[in-house]
Amino acid sequence: MSDAIVRVEALRKCYGDLEVLRSVDLQVEAGEVICIIGPSGSGKSTLLRTINHLEVPTAGEIHVNGMFINDTSLKGKAFDKHLCEVRTNLGMVFQHFHLFPHMSILQNVIEGPVQVLKQNKAEAEEKAMQLLTSVGLADKRDAYPDMLSGGQKQRVAIVRALAMNPSVMLFDEPTSALDPELVGEVLSVMEGLAKEGMTMLIVTHEMEFARKVADRVIFMDGGFIVEQGTPDQVFGNPQHQRTQQFLASIH
Ligand code: ADP
Ligand code: MG
Repeated sequence: MSDAIVRVEALRKCYGDLEVLRSVDLQVEAGEVICIIGPSGSGKSTLLRTINHLEVPTAGEIHVNGMFINDTSLKGKAFDKHLCEVRTNLGMVFQHFHLFPHMSILQNVIEGPVQVLKQNKAEAEEKAMQLLTSVGLADKRDAYPDMLSGGQKQRVAIVRALAMNPSVMLFDEPTSALDPELVGEVLSVMEGLAKEGMTMLIVTHEMEFARKVADRVIFMDGGFIVEQGTPDQVFGNPQHQRTQQFLASIH
């Protein structure tokens, strides 16, 4: 019995006739930082979204902390409750932040802990302020998302996910929508999380970051994991022609 935080087995995802994930197996161990790289359309976002059940798998199984997320034996409200419970283990950060625009920064961060985890407001606010302070945004507690830069918004989105105490953080190109000068402040928050031992699955085009921070790099193409290994192996000595071509194309 593996103690993997995330276990993906023979995962397939089709949109109509289009097979986007062909047979993906993946285990994410506690404390592991995995960067997923690959060309546009290779299925990276679909993999993350399927892990979180934002997309329903066509076949295969996903287990999070030993819980079978796409347990089809559960129906209706029983499944919704199960899904909600499993999802509290998964923190998700998207390319376009997805903050609640009508809520202040502090409200954004405490919404999940209060509504889903049933924490009392004072307790949730205290934790939220600790987290906002840790990313340098304590003074933005009463601001609204519109008033923040992209880099600030993404740091809030990370804090909002962390406030749920997830077992693993899923990042889908968290810096791709940012102006270049704002990328570093978000990557440095992520690097800090990695150093603290957070388990992370990160889709990224930031190869320098992946080389420095990842324990394992996964190269996806055409709905498959084509190749994986340490950053030195994948970047320094890629085995597959498609990996070599992809790495050459981005330099
Ligand atoms: P990546 O994140 O690697 O760029 P995606 O997972 O977003 O790739 O997409 C993989 C493939 O699936 C692409 O061909 C994309 O057009 C297709 N796709 C993604 N989402 C949908 C959807 N909701 N409906 C139909 N096709 C989709
Ligand atoms: Mg994508």
